[in-house]
Amino acid sequence: MSLKPGQKSPKSLIYKCSNCGNLQAMIKNEVVQHCEFCTDDNGKQTWLETDKKIVIISKDIKKMITETKTLSDKISDKITQFCGSIFFVYIHIIWFGIWLIYNIYAKNPFDPYPFGMLTLVVSLEAIILATFIMISQNQQGEITDLRSEADYQTDLKTEKKIAEILAILKTSYKPKKKK
Ligand SMILES: [Zn+2]
Repeated sequence: MSLKPGQKSPKSLIYKCSNCGNLQAMIKNEVVQHCEFCTDDNGKQTWLETDKKIVIISKDIKKMITETKTLSDKISDKITQFCGSIFFVYIHIIWFGIWLIYNIYAKNPFDPYPFGMLTLVVSLEAIILATFIMISQNQQGEITDLRSEADYQTDLKTEKKIAEILAILKTSYKPKKKK
C-alpha cells in the first residue's frame, strides 16, 4: 500500500519515498507531506510502506482531558472564564451603582443604609465564585501534572533509544590505529 501527499497516514510507520528512497516517520492520522528531496516530479511521488513500525508515547494531554470533562466541569470553566473578564467588573459596577443610588434617594428603599441585603447577596456570590475558581484551578493542576509525567516518559524513552543508537554506532565504528 502506498500513500500520496495530502492523504492521512493510517498507522504509525516509517515510509519510504518511491523516487529517492528517503525515509520518513509518520504518525497515525498525520497528513502526509511531499518528499523534501523530490519537489519537481509532477506529483508522481508516493510513500511506500516499510515493515518498520514506530511507537509514539507522546500524548496530547489537553485533548485527553477535554474529552473526559463532565458537564459540571465545563460549566465551572465557563463561569471562571467569565469572572476573569472586564465585562464581569462592569456588570458589578452598574449593579452596585443602581442599588446604592436607588436605596439612598428613594422614598421607600427596599435595602436602606447600611445595605444589609446587598452585603448578604455579595457574600454568597463570593463563596460560590471562589469554589468555581478552585475547581477550575484543580483541573489545571491535573493537566500540568499529567503533562509533566508524559514528558518524563517521552524523555526516558528518547534517552534509551539514543543509548541504543550510540551502542550500535560504537560497535560498527572502529577508529584506525596510528602506525
Ligand atoms: Zn523523495
